[in-house]
Amino acid sequence: MKIAIIGSGISALTAARNLNNAGDVTIFDKSKGIGGRIATRRADPFAFDHGAQYFLIKNNNFESFVSPFIEKGVVKRWDAYFKEFEGGKVISERQWNESFAHYVGAPNMNAFCKSLAENLKIIKKTRIHQVIKSDNGLKLIDDKDTELGVFDWVVSTVPSRQAVDILPKNLNFIDEITSIKMSPCFTLMLGFEKDLNLGFDAAMIHNELISWASVNSSKPDRRANDFSLVIQSTNRWADKNLNLDKNSVISTMISEASGIINRDLNVAIHKEVHGWHFANAPKRDLGVFIDYDMKIAACGDWCMHGRVESAYLSGKETASKVLEALA
Ligand SMILES: Cc1cc2nc3c(=O)[nH]c(=O)nc-3n(C[C@H](O)[C@H](O)[C@H](O)COP(=O)(O)OP(=O)(O)OC[C@H]3O[C@@H](n4cnc5c(N)ncnc54)[C@H](O)[C@@H]3O)c2cc1C
Repeated sequence: MKIAIIGSGISALTAARNLNNAGDVTIFDKSKGIGGRIATRRADPFAFDHGAQYFLIKNNNFESFVSPFIEKGVVKRWDAYFKEFEGGKVISERQWNESFAHYVGAPNMNAFCKSLAENLKIIKKTRIHQVIKSDNGLKLIDDKDTELGVFDWVVSTVPSRQAVDILPKNLNFIDEITSIKMSPCFTLMLGFEKDLNLGFDAAMIHNELISWASVNSSKPDRRANDFSLVIQSTNRWADKNLNLDKNSVISTMISEASGIINRDLNVAIHKEVHGWHFANAPKRDLGVFIDYDMKIAACGDWCMHGRVESAYLSGKETASKVLEALA
């Protein structure tokens, strides 16, 4: 039984770990790293978690899943000092602690996924262009028109819009996933010579074009002396400005954030922005997308909520449906 999984984010890694005993599982990802939106960008001496900032654990299955990685030390609690800003003022502040634990990968966000990926077969830098149903099974074709093999089952874990582009158009769920929209976001990454003493480690910002600021170097096992800030735009502002040139995005976000947190962020010695086209998905319960005749399934956070835990749950549920079909 040959199973292909497209994508190597947490939904893919979860699905692969659940399906690995049922067949020969191969993961394909277009990127040079694994983990998808659980991502870390390095710019020596700085490092930035430029995708997911942290994750919460609400579900018991997710708790059991994460617990060995906490024991191993690749997932740690981030006890940030948290503030909320609105209208240029701090409207609330508190210390995060074990009573409402926020978790991160250590020594960087991506370390969690690297650990999850151990012993899985992963082919990186391979963008799937098309999945074609043939008499022998499902053919995967990459963007150089190379045939990557024939599989009995394919599980796509890529964002909904990208799944529509690569999957066969006669799937029984194609119309439903075509209508699912995900929102974009810009992540600004700033590295400084000195600590800016902001008075917070993490901040939520309301009613401005930026919605989040965090001191990346305050997370556990980071290089605390290399002061690094991660600032996110709102989805709404990113949606309107996705085609803006990067320098304009950087200068607009720096100017906005400097005003809110009352520091001149232009003094940063490293300035970089990343535009996520498919960053977040609203809360919903779309269940599992699976076409048993075609032997193709699609999952990801977008089936439930744009959260790490939801991506895990979606990957797990999809794998269990595929396992049922194989039984
Ligand atoms: C800026 C930002 C901040 C966030 N903050 C938080 C947070 O604080 N807390 C939280 O819980 N969640 C947060 N999230 C959401 C969280 O990161 C996601 O919910 C989760 O990581 C999604 O996992 P996934 O496996 O569903 O998808 P992804 O991680 O997107 O994985 C999909 C994978 O598919 C690959 N791929 C796409 N197309 C192809 C193709 N054609 N061929 C091969 N591979 C392909 C991609 O490279 C990627 O690796 C944030 C996301 C972003 C972008």
